Amino acid sequence: MRGPIRAPRGPTLRCRGWQQEGALRMLMNNLDPEVAERPEDLIVYGGSGKAARNWAAYDAIVRELTTLGSDETLLVQSGKPVGVLRTHEWAPRVLIANSNLVGDWANWDEFRRLEQLGLIMYGQMTAGSWIYIGSQGILQGTYETFGAVARKLAASGRYRHSRGSLAGTITLTAGLGGMGGAQPLAVTMHGGVAICVECDPDRINRRMEHHFLDTKTESVESALQEAIIARDENHPLSIGLLGNAAEVFPQLLHMQAPIDIVTDQTSAHDPLAYLPAGVALEDWHTLAQKDPQWFTDEAERSMAAHVEAMVGFLDRGAEVFDYGNSIRDEARKGGCARAFDFPGFVPAYIRPLFEEGRGPFRWAALSGEPADIAATDRAILDLFPDDEHLRRWITLAGEKVPFQGLPARICWLGYGERHRAGLRFNEMVASGEVSAPIAIGRDHLDAGSVASPYRETEAMADGSDAIADWPLLNALVNTASGASWVSIHHGGGVGMGRSIHAGQVCIADGTELAARKLERVLTNDPATGVLRHVDAGYQRAAAVAFERGLHIPMTDR
Ligand code: NAD
Repeated sequence: MRGPIRAPRGPTLRCRGWQQEGALRMLMNNLDPEVAERPEDLIVYGGSGKAARNWAAYDAIVRELTTLGSDETLLVQSGKPVGVLRTHEWAPRVLIANSNLVGDWANWDEFRRLEQLGLIMYGQMTAGSWIYIGSQGILQGTYETFGAVARKLAASGRYRHSRGSLAGTITLTAGLGGMGGAQPLAVTMHGGVAICVECDPDRINRRMEHHFLDTKTESVESALQEAIIARDENHPLSIGLLGNAAEVFPQLLHMQAPIDIVTDQTSAHDPLAYLPAGVALEDWHTLAQKDPQWFTDEAERSMAAHVEAMVGFLDRGAEVFDYGNSIRDEARKGGCARAFDFPGFVPAYIRPLFEEGRGPFRWAALSGEPADIAATDRAILDLFPDDEHLRRWITLAGEKVPFQGLPARICWLGYGERHRAGLRFNEMVASGEVSAPIAIGRDHLDAGSVASPYRETEAMADGSDAIADWPLLNALVNTASGASWVSIHHGGGVGMGRSIHAGQVCIADGTELAARKLERVLTNDPATGVLRHVDAGYQRAAAVAFERGLHIPMTDR
């Protein structure tokens, strides 16, 4: 039995350069028990999202990274190192491809057959690309999304008193896993009340330990009562309710619960990671393994009941959205005819941000020193003094967000902003303002790096939702621009057959070469988001491209 994994800290190198060392530390950090959901199985988050295919492959990746030259590139195929090739110093040190299957074969059955044979692994988004930072990563996106919900409710004339916060509202959601665990804190940061249904008591306890969740109960009645009292007193509160969402959502609907906002973040994208009603928690994984087809049918039937209740709340006037886990399509398969009556969160709230190339920008202090993140927080505020929304987030995050694993931060920045932050961090490494290099990356959920018709590219203006050329171009351009590692994945977030997406990470090691690479990668990466939205006909994207001097052939200007 191996002991817990923890990334090395401090300024001492185990590898032959910081680019390789950064990859090594971020891989290990993904499997730190503070960060990963099931590190003993190499599972980082998102149902079965893994950092390496198996322990032998993990050990081999670590070995290869420690000997890798600064003119070599390690190739990783679905979590297994398959080659070290001579490249050059501008090339990425690691190139990763996870879970990719040819179109007609791109389904869970085929994936699981290959997984059983030990030939493939599910990389989710930042699990297999080694830039997961725990719940904070999703907290920022969730904070953005619930902020947009609050503004929409205020603009609609309801809850005018709330002035764009969630004060006076009750949100109902489910799933307190790696991603979903951010929901309670995001809602209370906006002043609201949340009831979060979760079937696994350990997950509830974990969120309470990390102070993402305020309180817990096993009773639907007392959860509702506490929520109503808190709402009426305008007191932000999050309640973890132990139960199965497929049972509790319909029950709350039947009780005429005064719910204002409804969403869900169970691992619905993978039917084997959704607990069907009537199946005991302790039987979950045995039954899923024993008869995956039966389990899938049961899970889809339960998701249909779960989503029927969400549609019921919609009919009563609640704000209802799919939070990027594909529950609508699974529910449709389970027999829910009205599953797509409510929208996904991207077309509902996030697309205008994507038009500007805005999206998640995250960084981790390879030193392990929280003071380094505090210094970078100050640098971000100095760089963007007029961005009030950013100031509020960075300040609240500094106060409320505990670090998991290596200290890290995330905020959303757009095209023309990210490279400024990257260059400043690189200067801070060079000058010793921070005590070791900084890893800078992002989620694949971004403006130009993903094709996902049930999520990031749902309802594109020109109908181009399923065109996956864009994430592939994004990965190619990040490779050409000098990222430290680049990845192309399939199936993250929404499951097999439903998405293709790319990631990049750069190590700011304080060198002149790193500065030149950072400037290019952190300009070009969000640029692909603007290009993608200009191409799809979005006016704001065209204006951003014009204002910020992005050259786009075949446009009017
Ligand atoms: P996870 O597997 O860590 O957590 C899922 C949680 O749902 C678990 O705690 C599980 O016990 C619980 N659960 C499963 N079935 C349940 C049921 N019937 N009733 C109540 N609880 C149940 O997954 P995660 O990392 O939290 O991700 C959740 C989903 O969000 C995934 O589908 C993921 O792909 C998706 N996702 C969304 C975004 C986004 O930006 N919105 C980003 C990444 C991933």
